[in-house]
Amino acid sequence: MPRMLDVSDDVRAEIGDEEADRLLAGENAPGSYDCTSCRTPGNTDQERTSTVLFVGQETAVLAFAHATCVPSQVVPVSEDQLRGAVRSITAEEVAPPAPEPPPAADTQAVLGVTSGVVLVGGEARPALVIEPTEPIARPGIGGPGDDFLPLLTEQGFLPVYDLGRPPAPIPGWSVLLAAGQLHAVLMPAPGGGAPVAWWQAHHPMPVSDGWRSAVGRSQQVLLYAASAGTIGTQPREDQLRTALDRAAARGALVGAAMPLAGT
Ligand SMILES: [Zn+2]
Repeated sequence: MPRMLDVSDDVRAEIGDEEADRLLAGENAPGSYDCTSCRTPGNTDQERTSTVLFVGQETAVLAFAHATCVPSQVVPVSEDQLRGAVRSITAEEVAPPAPEPPPAADTQAVLGVTSGVVLVGGEARPALVIEPTEPIARPGIGGPGDDFLPLLTEQGFLPVYDLGRPPAPIPGWSVLLAAGQLHAVLMPAPGGGAPVAWWQAHHPMPVSDGWRSAVGRSQQVLLYAASAGTIGTQPREDQLRTALDRAAARGALVGAAMPLAGT
């Protein structure tokens, strides 16, 4: 019996007709798998399944996802992200991943990233809240100023005054979730081409089951960014929401909505 597997044309082009046909014939399909998007179990014999190919510069990893979560697709990633994804897939088969400390960003700035499900317009929406550990000066300019929010506004983020409405989508940005863990926030490359990492996790960052299922429903992540010292560490999602409301009231919050990478 043919497996209920979707292999998109671009995935087929990458893996070749022979491998694609083997997959479709059920020879190489995994049977049961953990969805690469929502991370809950799936089964290629029982439900429509998308093949998702993560492609780095030198290697590629084939993963599986519920067709209801993401379509079959090729997701370009950096070699580092791919190694991270492979590590987390491998680690998961052995033992559940240990909680990681909040990951740091690039060498210029340390960005704290918190994931949480927030109630926006009566709907539970998956959010990422990004806050630098200290004020961020514009490159080449020293001094005590904080240009983090103006720099993001120049990229297309908009001020958030009211958490009751989701922020507007921002073209070209996306969130890279692989094997159910957060790997990076991608932005358009200056001058075009494949997206580049705006923020990249040093270690894949675990997100909650609730967060993953909220992404599965909305197919969109709300990214909020706040000035340093605004949000802080909020252990509970209701406290995170309160802190976001406070930041919005003070004009210290910008936001944008973006899809998962490759969707
Ligand atoms: Zn899924």
